[in-house]
Amino acid sequence: MSGQDTQPAWQERYAESLMNTFGPPKLTLARGEGAHVWDTDGKEYVDLLGGIAVNALGHAHPALVAAVTEQMSTLGHVSNFFATEPQIALAERLLGLLDHGPGKVFFTNSGTEAVEAAFKLTRRTGRTHVVAAAGGFHGRTMGALALTSKEAYRTPFEPLPGDVTFVPYGDADALAAAVTDETAAVLLEPIQGEAGVITPPDGYLAAAREITTQHGALLWFDEIQTGMGRTGRWLEHHRSGVVPDLVTLAKGLAGGFPIGAFVALGAAGDLLQPGNHGTTFGGNPVACAAALAVIDTIEAEGLLEHVTVLGQKLRDGLLADPRVTEVRGEGLLIGLDLTAEVSADVAAAALRAGFIVNNPTPSRIRLAPPLVLTGDDVDAFLSAWPAVLDDAMGEP
Ligand SMILES: *Cc1c(COP(=O)(O)O)cnc(C)c1O
Repeated sequence: MSGQDTQPAWQERYAESLMNTFGPPKLTLARGEGAHVWDTDGKEYVDLLGGIAVNALGHAHPALVAAVTEQMSTLGHVSNFFATEPQIALAERLLGLLDHGPGKVFFTNSGTEAVEAAFKLTRRTGRTHVVAAAGGFHGRTMGALALTSKEAYRTPFEPLPGDVTFVPYGDADALAAAVTDETAAVLLEPIQGEAGVITPPDGYLAAAREITTQHGALLWFDEIQTGMGRTGRWLEHHRSGVVPDLVTLAKGLAGGFPIGAFVALGAAGDLLQPGNHGTTFGGNPVACAAALAVIDTIEAEGLLEHVTVLGQKLRDGLLADPRVTEVRGEGLLIGLDLTAEVSADVAAAALRAGFIVNNPTPSRIRLAPPLVLTGDDVDAFLSAWPAVLDDAMGEP
């Protein structure tokens, strides 16, 4: 800040005008292109977080800019008293990508709203009990929070909607013990994102399918973070071959344009009836046009294959450093464990070196970069990585 500035520093303006729910932001970002962003001082960063698994096509992708601009200048909003072509086309497209036969889609504006809508649908089974996983994250509104186990998020807002049982993630026996003939649904992330990218053991999702079928409960996969190409597949649960009843989506779906969706497959698609749920903005034609452009671009640019190759390269490179004890994930959803509880220092050191990474827990780093990340971006990060760890942790 120059001395002649009459305007106070942005940190002060932020603190005076924005609610302090996120803690102080690290930077003000001014623009982006591909997987790169620039702050207001003109410093460049490689964005390895992608707005938390959102910016699938990176920043300012011409296909996304064109789709949003075109739709906004044609028809920007109509309410759900009317249909629009982008909304219908996107619903059809999502059912096609899911590839599990007939189903119905409900559009929202965010992940937590998709979870709320799906949670309401589970009540229409006539049952109220839901089983979810410890460490799972499903959003911050009251219903989604009731399904999220983390005490620090829940406690200040209790009582939350009840009848939720949490089981250890990845433990099929614990799941079998928790699900009864009174259970409406079992809710799982195919990979737990906010927990620091935790992958379940092979066979876990299939066991969940078997257990829920046995008790007539719905199986609900929250793919808000893992879906839409992030893991090198359209949906992460495709890796297991398991067919769920409900799938929630958001984050990368429209590449940064706010949107959420939930899909109910087969008979579950008819559980919500007229008047049971609604939204003013959900299914907005601009958001749907954005999502269609993201899907088309992932296909046209062969990004699923690209994500698989780059993800492997990143994981191999990160694990080469002895201060990294484990690297997990699929495609470009990557979590790593450090030998010490210094992930905030590592994230800060990375930022100084020009890389945006995230520290979801004290000893874990998460990467969820744009799917358009380049091999050069990966090379730059991997060559800087040992020095970033030196800066935060001292030499190995
Ligand atoms: C981010 C996330 C949510 C919440 O989405 P918001 O858009 O932040 O409300 C829900 N579930 C999972 C798995 C997520 O990663």
